[in-house]
Amino acid sequence: MTERLSVMPGGTWRNWGRSVKAVPTFMVRAGSAEEVVATIRFARERGLPVKPVGAGHSFSPAAATNGVQLDLRWLDGVLATEPLAGGNALVTLGAGTNLYQLPALLGDLGLAMQNLGDIDRQTIAGATATGTHGTGRAFGGLATRIRRATIATADGELLRVSETEHPELLPAVALAIGSLGVLVDVTIECVPAFTIHAVERRERLDEVLDGWEERTRDADHFEFYTWPHADWVLSKTNTRLGPDAPVQRLGRVREWFDDTVMSNGLYSQLLGIGTVIPAAVPGINRLAARLASTREFSDDSQAVFVSPRTFRFREMEYALPVEAVPSAVREIRDRIESRGWRISMPIEVRCAAPDDLWLSTAHGRATGYIAVHRFAGERLGDYFREIEPILVAHDGRPHWGKMHERSAADLRPAYPRFDDFLAARDRLDPDRVFGNEYLRRILGD
Ligand SMILES: Cc1cc2nc3c(=O)[nH]c(=O)nc-3n(C[C@H](O)[C@H](O)[C@H](O)COP(=O)(O)OP(=O)(O)OC[C@H]3O[C@@H](n4cnc5c(N)ncnc54)[C@H](O)[C@@H]3O)c2cc1C
Repeated sequence: MTERLSVMPGGTWRNWGRSVKAVPTFMVRAGSAEEVVATIRFARERGLPVKPVGAGHSFSPAAATNGVQLDLRWLDGVLATEPLAGGNALVTLGAGTNLYQLPALLGDLGLAMQNLGDIDRQTIAGATATGTHGTGRAFGGLATRIRRATIATADGELLRVSETEHPELLPAVALAIGSLGVLVDVTIECVPAFTIHAVERRERLDEVLDGWEERTRDADHFEFYTWPHADWVLSKTNTRLGPDAPVQRLGRVREWFDDTVMSNGLYSQLLGIGTVIPAAVPGINRLAARLASTREFSDDSQAVFVSPRTFRFREMEYALPVEAVPSAVREIRDRIESRGWRISMPIEVRCAAPDDLWLSTAHGRATGYIAVHRFAGERLGDYFREIEPILVAHDGRPHWGKMHERSAADLRPAYPRFDDFLAARDRLDPDRVFGNEYLRRILGD
């Protein structure tokens, strides 16, 4: 069986944000459910753990292993579709499908993802495993759209989980941080393709914070970026339109200029200057805020949700009760000023609907997300370490795919179904075949 596997000796692996390095003993590429099961057997025969890796876009060490790293990039594409009443449809995707493949795959079917995050580099299994989310008070993270999954378990079984097959496991398997087994495929409830009308505006920070709750309720998708040392935000208000709504894309030159030159190219140059000359950061931030120009356009949903990120950074993000956002943002900004830090990258603020997945950061409450970033060229210093307690004090839960220092003992009280999740883990992976350092820290043992 193992002869059919593409097994390579492990080399040094790094995540996208360069915050994690690991040296797996073996790297395996699997292109079918049978090969995934064979990989698990291969690892167990050698007493090694197995860790599926997606696109390596987690800032946390969620995907790190010194055992067998399992790459599922060959397990991609649409495996099945099933229409539902009302226009939605179930689409089964290979676990290694990258989100950037979706416009082509779903577009042919007249479908789209209900919501997406900022980028499309992740795999569907990796994104859902860590609770990846976009913004929108009425919309949950990507994992909330999983209706069925096939998971290869530690004992080599291919377990189907759905509303009718092991339904008790669905709220655990849909968002498991890779701890329960290897997802082979996931079935997502997609919606009919739609257009988004996007409005991006420069606004006063205080006005946006004072109107935060209302703004999140009034818009389909509301978010904003605020630069430390500047009193402005760039707000983004997206309205969902029908598929037949006229598309008014930004001109190609404008789009290239905004996304490539301004948002990424010139901005990364400015960030580089700030790294060498920290005293220049407040001026750079005020300039960046001023350059955040108003623009309005309509496009296919995925083209509006995601943007390119061409420079590297590191990120910590917490999920708070939505009403706690204004106070937490103000406290973070006050701390930055009182400590005299020069922070060049903006703070990103989003929201999401409550959901019932056991380890979802939005479990059981309307949620606001606050993310802080540091350019990859800068030292983290005390920034994340001192901001984290502020977010925790606001009843925050860390994003599983981003940097944080929390452990199982801290996390248990934050998740009402934490122990149910651990029981599911004991049932599906009693020997911790899918374990790693990170899971030991956040789940215990
Ligand atoms: C530039 C950038 C922008 C981002 N934007 C957002 C955003 O807007 N919103 C947001 O919420 N997050 C965002 N993130 C975080 C990112 O979405 C998550 O960290 C996501 O998990 C990365 O997906 P991946 O495919 O790279 O998975 P990886 O990082 O490779 O893996 C993540 C976890 O998934 C597990 N996994 C992977 N494949 C499988 C499988 N087949 N079966 C079981 N487990 C599996 C891994 O073992 C690991 O535990 C961003 C990250 C970056 C770098």
